[in-house]
Amino acid sequence: MPKIIDKYLMDTGWLFQYRDTLSACPGCSPAGETRCRFCTLCRGLVTGLVKRLASSIMAAFAHQPNSEKPMPATPPSHTMFDIAIIGAGVVGCALARRLVLDGARVVVLEKAAELLDGASKANSAILHTGFDAPPGSLEQKCVAAGYREYLEIRESLGLPLLQSGAMVLAWNEAELAALDSLIDKARQNGVADVSRLSRAQILAREPQLSAGVKGGFLVPGEFLIDPWSSAHSYILQALANGAEIRRNTEVLSGRLKGEHWVLETSQGAVCAAQVISCAGLYGDIVDARLLGRAMFRINPRKGQFVVFDKPAAALVKSIILPVPSKTTKGVVICRTIFGNLLVGPTAEEQESRTDAATEAATLADLREKGIKMLPALANCEVAASYAGLRPATEYSDFQITRHGAQNYISVGGIRSTGLSAALGIARHVAALLPATAFRKAPVEHPAMVPATRLSAYHPRDWEAAGHGGIICHCELVTKREIEAALAGPLPPTTLQGLKRRTRVGMGRCQGFYCTAALAALTKGRLVPPIGEEGA
Ligand SMILES: Cc1cc2nc3c(=O)[nH]c(=O)nc-3n(C[C@H](O)[C@H](O)[C@H](O)COP(=O)(O)OP(=O)(O)OC[C@H]3O[C@@H](n4cnc5c(N)ncnc54)[C@H](O)[C@@H]3O)c2cc1C
Repeated sequence: MPKIIDKYLMDTGWLFQYRDTLSACPGCSPAGETRCRFCTLCRGLVTGLVKRLASSIMAAFAHQPNSEKPMPATPPSHTMFDIAIIGAGVVGCALARRLVLDGARVVVLEKAAELLDGASKANSAILHTGFDAPPGSLEQKCVAAGYREYLEIRESLGLPLLQSGAMVLAWNEAELAALDSLIDKARQNGVADVSRLSRAQILAREPQLSAGVKGGFLVPGEFLIDPWSSAHSYILQALANGAEIRRNTEVLSGRLKGEHWVLETSQGAVCAAQVISCAGLYGDIVDARLLGRAMFRINPRKGQFVVFDKPAAALVKSIILPVPSKTTKGVVICRTIFGNLLVGPTAEEQESRTDAATEAATLADLREKGIKMLPALANCEVAASYAGLRPATEYSDFQITRHGAQNYISVGGIRSTGLSAALGIARHVAALLPATAFRKAPVEHPAMVPATRLSAYHPRDWEAAGHGGIICHCELVTKREIEAALAGPLPPTTLQGLKRRTRVGMGRCQGFYCTAALAALTKGRLVPPIGEEGA
């Protein structure tokens, strides 16, 4: 019995909240949990938590997912939202920001312990112009709008940008023959500044490239960004302007009861007038749970990457893009904003929605492909590898559908360009909602929450005084940065969450040297605690 209770508490996040409250106690910190439990300040907090724990345990035993048990007809007023967004990937985060700024009361429900735990966990981090999207497609419209808005808001939110530009390169005659139609397509898509490059012009720009290149064209507006700080700052701005986010909260089922939805989640019922699913790799499953049917099927498509160590980043300035195929943008060589060099991704169809393992043979093949295009890579060391999963469907375009009679919008199939398109998708979805979805006036002077600057090409915290010491020497992450993340309005609950907020442990040694210091700094804050991940 105690094990069942423990598991339930862990699954639903109660255990974490309990520990979090204790360790957040200013009276006890950094004394540790045991003393915390008995100090006067904590006693009140603990009493409240114990009461909530007791009702949660009762609910655990009464709770049967997807049961026919009737759900409450009238929600308690404090849980009534205008809009419930399912999923805190980059799309859900951007949408929460947009809808809150437009005047809606929003809750974001995320099943994982952390945000950005699905497709948004791993990508190439290119801010695409949409030059190669099918003209007239929803993807093209959303990428173009998302790109524009990112550039508009990036200074006020402190979002990084590496103005690298890209070159689309042909390595054989067939690819060379395809360049003109790609340039036409770019111009149809409003990306007018593309220009054809001869072999000599390409090699003058990037002298380290293989002399085997046949020709290409320049796309000056393709840039590199931070894959995580953008989404974090969207959701932080949403929270600062009134949104709520609930992690460890999986939407299991739901019903439209008259004018509002009652969603049954792993943390109890949540009520909202409108529901918008941004569930990424689970988009079809969530639609089936709530609408009774899915309009598309998710076909996960894995992309593996090889990460070269920092000296390799000096080899190229531009993003080196191949001539894209129908299903993939192909293997790219580009710097990361963190100062590494990437080669990837692959495009591998698979059944699993979670298996993001990398394979030695595939990584070796990627390395070879990289060396073929950029021969000096042969002398560069590989620092890491990773893979991401694209939420592809049987359709090539984004699948965004409003089911008006059901107060429901499904945002699905955001496969290869969601990081760039997120802000544009948010505007498109906001325009699909009825005016009644926004009960308040748009926020006139929105609160701004600056993003943590982790770009290797911009000033970093370790360069400023008073940082408290460097914890991660590979990525130059300071004690102050880690403490700020832990004390922030949306503190990390897992080591992965902390890594995505600070890059700690993500460098060459992959945490080998900083783990002990990090475990001490994060004591009582992460689940599982550092060092006990595999226990
Ligand atoms: C290899 C690769 C390279 C890429 N490169 C680029 C690039 O360079 N530029 C670019 O713009 N884009 C790129 N992308 C695309 C981009 O990463 C995705 O389009 C984007 O991350 C999709 O975000 P999302 O929010 O739709 O989905 P997700 O990030 O998957 O978010 C969905 C969330 O919903 C949650 N969820 C699911 N079911 C439930 C439920 N029942 N209850 C509650 N929560 C639930 C999940 O846990 C998840 O957090 C790339 C993608 C990959 C894989």
